[in-house]
Amino acid sequence: MGRRRDIKERCEECWFRHELCVCALIPQRELNTRLLLLMHHTEWASTTNTGRFALRALPNSEVRFRGLPEERVNLDDLRNSPGQLLLLYPTPDAQPLTTEFIQKLKKPVTLIVPDGTWRQAAKVFRRERVLKEQTIPVSLPPDAVESDYLLRRMDKPGALCTLEAIAHAMGILEGEDIKQDLLELFNLVNLRTLATRSPDWIEAMKEWAKKAGRSPGKTWASVAELREKYLPKGYRP
Ligand SMILES: [Zn+2]
Repeated sequence: MGRRRDIKERCEECWFRHELCVCALIPQRELNTRLLLLMHHTEWASTTNTGRFALRALPNSEVRFRGLPEERVNLDDLRNSPGQLLLLYPTPDAQPLTTEFIQKLKKPVTLIVPDGTWRQAAKVFRRERVLKEQTIPVSLPPDAVESDYLLRRMDKPGALCTLEAIAHAMGILEGEDIKQDLLELFNLVNLRTLATRSPDWIEAMKEWAKKAGRSPGKTWASVAELREKYLPKGYRP
């Protein structure tokens, strides 16, 4: 789902239709923690991929594509990486990412995030020895929120989409304000995609508002609030 269509009507950078372009609203946060997104190549063309927005918001970030039939992803340089490499991936022995844990790490930290399905992520972890040898697998603490992402069914309950997961991880590594900035970006992308995509987007927004605990019992007011906050003025889906 979610391939790019009607390309002329879309912003070349964010792929939203011009009237919903989010580019001017993407925060820019220069962080000490470097983000390395290991993206399955089929993700890049998908409009439901949220990892690419993390790349836009965080200048200290990089994407490498994996899963290409003719080219293995090259991670050899990670062997000489300064500081500590963390792999955000819930292996059975993954360390919960907490402030106590990160205090002990050699800085700077590079956070490696597989972007794609869990199955694809498991494959890359098995295949790339450098990840096994050089990284510490970490997982978000169990109290990290349930996903608010409505556009793509998660293959595990409570699983977060890529931008949400990065927001929570960077929140622990770099501070609460980073998390808030990235979650706001996520909300914006989520809502604007929903507004263009879902045939019954009002229902979906109501559900989201309910789930997010916005003004309980006043779901319609919450929907209005969400529209006001995240959709351009006067926009009618
Ligand atoms: Zn744009």
